[in-house]
Amino acid sequence: LVEIKNLHKSFGSNHVLRGIDFTVEQGEVVCVIGPSGSGKSTLLRCVNLLEQPQEGQVIVRGEDITDRDCHLDAARQQIGMVFQQFNLFPHLTVLQNCTVAQTTVLKRKSSEAARVARANLERVGLTEKVTAYPAQLSGGQQQRVAIARALSMDPALMLFDEPTSALDPELVGEVLTVMRKLALDGMTMLVVTHEMAFAREVADRVAFMDGGVIVEQGPPAELIGNPAHERTRTFLRRVL
Ligand code: ATP
Ligand code: MG
Repeated sequence: LVEIKNLHKSFGSNHVLRGIDFTVEQGEVVCVIGPSGSGKSTLLRCVNLLEQPQEGQVIVRGEDITDRDCHLDAARQQIGMVFQQFNLFPHLTVLQNCTVAQTTVLKRKSSEAARVARANLERVGLTEKVTAYPAQLSGGQQQRVAIARALSMDPALMLFDEPTSALDPELVGEVLTVMRKLALDGMTMLVVTHEMAFAREVADRVAFMDGGVIVEQGPPAELIGNPAHERTRTFLRRVL
């Protein structure tokens, strides 16, 4: 579904991504782990072109989205993103947060957008909050709205950048439960996370990033249980 080839990204003289080669298959759940500053967020941001890489390609469903001729908005529509900070529109209700991009970007009728939004709010367990405003919700509920909002655009791929790290510990579980359900539903997911238990249980594959490269990747039991590289072992000793 996604093929990343020799991806390089620098900010000034800071060479952050140093040749990433990586694929995500349809229906696969891939977790990316690694130390702070290793380039995990930058990698996700290049996949949905919030950042323009200097070199390399990101191919989504056979289309090179880094190509100058590529229709950016069309490419981005296929990719949902959930951030650490939920970034909901504070002046819109939960339902409106989930319909606004559907009506403006996808040009859906408002009745259709509302139907899709309600279905996705049901998936994340928030049907009774449709008329609430973000400020009236807990962090965990806000993050679940952000997930429903992304799902309402019918993405082929969902990117998650540390979706639970801004949450109080007691609210982490409800968000991970929603993500686990999405994975079981067959959603293709690329997840940057520090939640090793989640990675171990839900991921089909875990990739360890350090210094702008993917040091190693493999099934969670192997990568987390028996890593091949010393850098991976050092990192895991600190986080486990
Ligand atoms: P963390 O675990 O702390 O979120 P990360 O692995 O996500 O770290 P990135 O956010 O991708 O790391 O940052 C990698 C490097 O790129 C850092 O040195 C950071 O300062 C730099 N960087 C990221 N975004 C920008 C930007 N917009 N402008 C300049 N430098 C940036
Ligand atoms: Mg980050």
